[in-house]
Amino acid sequence: MRNKIFKSIWIAAISVFFASLLFILGISYSYFTSIQKLQLKNQTELAAKGVSISGSVYLEELNPEGYRITWISQDGTVLYDNQANSEIMENHLERKEVMEALENGSGSSERYSNTLTEKQFYCARRLPDGSVIRLSIVQAAVWTLLLGFAQPICIVIIIAFLLSFFIASRLARKIVEPLNNIDIKNPEMYYGKETYREVEPLLRHISEQNIQLKKDKDLIEKNALIRQEFTANVSHELKTPLHVISGYAELIENGMVRDEDIKPFVRIIREESIRITKLVEDIIDLTKLDSGVVDLSWENCNLYSIAENVIESLYSEYTEKGISVTLRGSSSPLKSIPQLLYSITYNICDNAIKYNRPGGYVEVNVYKNDGYTILSVKDSGIGIEEQYQDRIFERFYRVDKSHSKEVGGTGLGLSIVKHALLILNGSVKVESSPETGTTFTVSIPS
Ligand code: ADP
Repeated sequence: MRNKIFKSIWIAAISVFFASLLFILGISYSYFTSIQKLQLKNQTELAAKGVSISGSVYLEELNPEGYRITWISQDGTVLYDNQANSEIMENHLERKEVMEALENGSGSSERYSNTLTEKQFYCARRLPDGSVIRLSIVQAAVWTLLLGFAQPICIVIIIAFLLSFFIASRLARKIVEPLNNIDIKNPEMYYGKETYREVEPLLRHISEQNIQLKKDKDLIEKNALIRQEFTANVSHELKTPLHVISGYAELIENGMVRDEDIKPFVRIIREESIRITKLVEDIIDLTKLDSGVVDLSWENCNLYSIAENVIESLYSEYTEKGISVTLRGSSSPLKSIPQLLYSITYNICDNAIKYNRPGGYVEVNVYKNDGYTILSVKDSGIGIEEQYQDRIFERFYRVDKSHSKEVGGTGLGLSIVKHALLILNGSVKVESSPETGTTFTVSIPS
């Protein structure tokens, strides 16, 4: 970058220098020409005086360098010319400067020579006897001027090159230095400072990036902590049923259980195995939702039919407890992910049965409201005290751990609901009181 700034400054300086040089040369040339014309006029005056005093003798003795002198009679006949044979020269009466001189006393003109390569300046003066003295000179060419200035111009060019090189490299360093000195971690401290005014948008951008990086870092750390806690919880949750299974199996193996007790012991082993299976299934579901690796597709589905299927699959659970389950509402089609809708409905209805009182009821309602498809599940169960209502969506959080275990809970059902709703852009609301029971209301945009 420093190199680029240096080159830009240097090229700009050199360009300005050459443009100025050309301009100055142009002005000098026109000044030079005006001096030449003035000299021609003075020389013409002198020659006119000389001829009027001494006649043609004056002209013959005169040997002016660079000037051409012509003496023309009143009728235009050339009487004398220092560069050509006057006798064969044509009549000069028509020449502009001669005509002017005859009329006004003096005249001037400029013309290109026959070859058109050089310009001639003419100046004429009428003498008292009516004849005209005319002097002419070739305009000095540009290169004559350049040649005269060659040495100083070369010196100025060399100095300009060196000076601009030195200044450009210093300026480039001065521009880049403050940028290199910026403390990228604290760009805010340069806001409003004169030196950094032009790069303030960049500094603000860096600051935003820093904030974003910090947020990302915090999130990564938080996620790592959650994962750590989750792993610890999983091991803990698995350990208990595994201990039970191995303990009972060992007792049976060592013949320490009476024959009539073997059946209940085996039942416990089976129940604990089912718990482990359910736990592992829930963990797999939750991990899939969490990592986003699930291959789920959005399809046309119907929440009412899904609720029907869920209730059907929970039939043995609620009839065992003498709970009545009713489904109200009507066909509720929506574009969504059926597996997730099933999982949400299943976990909420399963809880409504699990945490219900014997002989209680569950009312499931599916309806559309204001662009949302609503699933509400009301139970007549044990309810959830207000202080726990936010926490029940946390992983492995159970209001009453032993009761949850008793009814086959893993503490992951509502976490799965929360994660599934995140994917579907939906939300869930809990209303509950320990006396009357709980209502979960799920809203899914449709
Ligand atoms: P679990 O597998 O233990 O049911 P969940 O994540 O589904 O785990 O629920 C978390 C906790 O929330 C449960 O342990 C229970 O204490 C409470 N809970 C959930 N649903 C209900 C409900 N319908 N009635 C009373 N308590 C509930």
